[in-house]
This record gives sequence, structure tokens and C-alpha cells, in this order.
Amino acid sequence: MSKLTITKLNKTYPNGVKALDDVSIEIGKGMFGLLGPNGAGKSTLMRTLATLQEPDSGTATLDDVDILNQPVELRKILGYLPQEFSVYPKITASQLLDHLAVLKGISNRKERKQLVDYLLQKVNLYDKRKKSVKGFSGGMKQRVGIAQALIGNPRLIIVDEPTAGLDPGERNRFHNLLAEVGEEVIVILSTHIVDDVRELCTKMAIMNFGKIVYNGTPSEALDALNGQVWRKSIERAEKETYKSNYNVISDKMVGGKPQIHVISENKPDEGFVQVAPNLEDVFFTRIQSSNH
Ligand code: ADP
Repeated sequence: MSKLTITKLNKTYPNGVKALDDVSIEIGKGMFGLLGPNGAGKSTLMRTLATLQEPDSGTATLDDVDILNQPVELRKILGYLPQEFSVYPKITASQLLDHLAVLKGISNRKERKQLVDYLLQKVNLYDKRKKSVKGFSGGMKQRVGIAQALIGNPRLIIVDEPTAGLDPGERNRFHNLLAEVGEEVIVILSTHIVDDVRELCTKMAIMNFGKIVYNGTPSEALDALNGQVWRKSIERAEKETYKSNYNVISDKMVGGKPQIHVISENKPDEGFVQVAPNLEDVFFTRIQSSNH
């Protein structure tokens, strides 16, 4: 049973930004969602786990591998799809994956060919294997990114902000592929998109200002807000008044009018209706309470 154990990781950048603030968390097999607004520290954590940068203090282990002290061992069992997977030379999809397999230490040519063909089929790019990756669409590039992350039977797969720039169809296909992979290994999906986590993850954490502000299942987080989320359509001009009178966690335009969500034990005033909490409510509530 694979387990990733992160203990008291800290990182302050030279400009004084504390990107990791005593981060401790345990992650087991399956899809794990790491949610947080831009700047929360997600990429710093992902890059640290991928051994691309070092923390100031703390430890991280994947079963018997000490990630920070045995980076070479870790890289053998890691699949990493960075935020920007932008190595797209003018070579074909087959050639690129073959090359990356060499770098991962798969030296037998026949074995490599079998693996590359298998991965191309898995990400549905086999028909395009002889085309230059440079000309691929955003979704096809993401699939090449996933294929390369699967080279060498990784036990830990890290996917950083994966669905930015994908159209809805591509996003669905990408989700299905991740869900299939995620049953067998640890997959960490780092994202600011709440829907990605809702659709895919059984466990999640929320990060804000370098801290873990929630760690648990999406359903526990939803249960904790039961009966406390109220919705109202208001006029644009009333927004500030509502914000100063009530605990407004979100406002968004629905049919041309702002619709606010308020957290309250009791009905805030006439015109509010109680709604079932959604993961976005969870996200904004946890972020807001950690901003104070
Ligand atoms: P996220 O992935 O959640 O958007 P990041 O880990 O990229 O968050 O960034 C966390 C914080 O650290 C942000 O305030 C960001 O501006 C800062 N930061 C990230 N990388 C660097 C760096 N190399 N130098 C200085 N500050 C950085």
C-alpha cells in the first residue's frame, strides 16, 4: 500500500514570500485533489515533491524512499506533468516518448517500442504517432504529457493545473484517463478549478498562503456546511451593503444579476433561500476563514 507522507515542509523564497508554511499531510492510493487559489503554494509543493526544488526544512517520504535525500530513487517512481509541459521539438509523438523513455532509463529498444505504442494507444494518439508534436492541439499535447508521465510504471503521479486551456470535450477525456490511472497509484491533482476535484477526487486538501486549511474528503467538507448556505439574487448596487452586513462567501453573475452565497446559522433575511452546500462553498469558506 503506497503512502506519501509529508511532514512540516517549509519554504520561504528570497523575496520573503512564505510559500510553504509547516505543510504536513498523508496521501494514499487514488486521486487526491489539491485545491487553492493562485499563489497558494501548490506548485511549490508539487515541485518540491518532484525533487525540482528543495524546501528550507521538513521531510517527505514515499513508502521507503526519502524524497528529499534520495531524488534519484524518487524520480524512478515519479510521473510528473508540470504546469507548462512545453518541450515540443519538431519530432513525432513516437520519437518524443521514445526519447523520454531513454531518459527514464529504459535502455532496451524493443521494450521501449512496446511501451511507447502502448502509451500512445492508452492516450488515444496512436493514429497520430507519426505527426509532429509541435502541430498538436492543446488537448493532444496534454495527452502526450500524460503519456510521458506514465513511462516507467510510476507509483506517484503529480499533475499540476492540468485542464487550463482544454475545451470541455478534451477535459472530459483527460479526466477519464486520469481516473483510470488513479485507481492503481497515488495521483495528486493540483488545481484552482473546483470542478476538477469534485469530478475526480475522493480525498482533497485546500491550501491558502502556504498552509493546509482543509484536509479530508469532499463529502465531509460538504456535510460541515449543511444548513448554513443561503442564496439570494440581488441588485448590483446592493452588493457592498450585503458584503458588510453578512458573511458573503461568493458572488457571481447569474442571468445578468449578482447571486450571492452567505454562510449563516439562521436565515439572513427575507429573500434568502437555503441551498445544499457545493464544493465551491467549501472552497470559499475555507479560504476566507484562513485570510483573516
Ligand atoms: P500556486 O501554484 O498555488 O499558484 P506557487 O507555489 O506558484 O502557488 O506560488 C506561491 C507563492 O510563492 C506566490 O506568492 C508566488 O508569487 C511565490 N513564488 C513562487 N515561485 C517563486 C520564486 N521562484 N521566487 C519568488 N517567489 C515565488
